[in-house]
Amino acid sequence: MKALTVSELWGGVSGGFHPASAPDYLPLPQLRELQLRRLQAIVNLAYGNVALYRERMDAAHVRPSDITSLEAIRSLPFTVKTDLRDTYPFGLFARPMHEIVRLHASSGTTGKPIVVAYTQEDLDVWTNAMVRTFAACGIHQGDIIQNAYGYGLFTGGLGAHYGAEALGATVIPISGGNTERQIMVMKDFGVSAICCTPSYFLHLADRAETMGVNIRELPLRAGIFGAEPWTEAMRARIEADTGVKAYDIYGLSEITGPGVASECHAQSGLHIFEDHFYPEIIDPDTGDPLPDGQEGELVLTTLSKRAMPMLRYRTRDITTIMCEPCACGRTVRRIRRIGRRSDDMFIIRGVNVFPSQIEVALLEVEGTMPHYHIILSRKNGLDEMEVQVEVTPDVFSDKIRALEDLQAKLAYAVEHTVGIRASIRLVEPHSLQRSEGKAKRVTDNRQM
Ligand SMILES: [Zn+2]
Repeated sequence: MKALTVSELWGGVSGGFHPASAPDYLPLPQLRELQLRRLQAIVNLAYGNVALYRERMDAAHVRPSDITSLEAIRSLPFTVKTDLRDTYPFGLFARPMHEIVRLHASSGTTGKPIVVAYTQEDLDVWTNAMVRTFAACGIHQGDIIQNAYGYGLFTGGLGAHYGAEALGATVIPISGGNTERQIMVMKDFGVSAICCTPSYFLHLADRAETMGVNIRELPLRAGIFGAEPWTEAMRARIEADTGVKAYDIYGLSEITGPGVASECHAQSGLHIFEDHFYPEIIDPDTGDPLPDGQEGELVLTTLSKRAMPMLRYRTRDITTIMCEPCACGRTVRRIRRIGRRSDDMFIIRGVNVFPSQIEVALLEVEGTMPHYHIILSRKNGLDEMEVQVEVTPDVFSDKIRALEDLQAKLAYAVEHTVGIRASIRLVEPHSLQRSEGKAKRVTDNRQM
């Protein structure tokens, strides 16, 4: 009898299993032991090779030898995004240039970008984390993956690419943009999974409809969506409208790129690959650590990254660590879906508002499409918020009365959710600008 391969043995298991996923299921004592050993090694490396870490640890009177437990991580100083800018381009590298085999950079909107670096070992870890991501989303050998994350300096494209190849799937490196070609490829190549931002997928679905392509009739069954905050309400819309199972993944270039955390088939929080990325939650105002289960800012420490270790990096992402066991059996902890980034928050009339709160309010109301834009302005010294939202074609062609009713319902939903009255502007389907990458939800026209 022919011996079965691992993927044949496990291929039918719900949620998929790949040998690379083994660390997802480590017994906790073993996982904690592994994390501590890696933490000690990385703190040594950072202290010994990066001036910024050494100076800050000296100032805080912490030595690498003080890290005798995982809890001792709390004695280490935080690292923040401006540290990457201030040390531009190579000031945080812990390995000499001849060991560095890849550089990526963020597209900075102002000034210099941030640069991140990888040794070959770092790339292997990243690829491994992306294999675990795909496997958790039920993607396996035999899948045809359309990778619509941008290729280039952005980490999304190449991160997903090498992970998908290592998984043994077929990758289509189409990158972002050229929406009509994306739809043609999706249909003609029999694509079964797509990687992109959720807002770009909505745009694709939209355009497919106008091209007479019914996504429901295609083999496409899963979307691996990340690189921007989105909500549970948005997921419900995507899944109901397209029949595609929408998975949330999480990552950031400063830590590695995509592949830091991923949902599994339970779609209830994202498993963090914590044997490589150690998570903490802190109070964003005081910096004090918060226990699992409490909401705060996610702080990550890279446990394996050689070229550019990150110690206690403040992500600005607001979430909660969930430590209850997951239905999938993975032992690595989960983070709650990130719907909010503290950077996205805007303040209107003294109230803190996140675009995701508006998104949830809008999608609660029937007749709206998941396309919206928030415009802030100031009239006579008073902040005003206008929310433009697309409505479904049938509502739009309906009577004025129906539109007024819908407008009132939306105004109520927004006010009820954020406590601020907004003027609602209903716009025709397909009239708001679509993004091919991260969606821009807010335009702030207030004079600062
Ligand atoms: Zn799970």
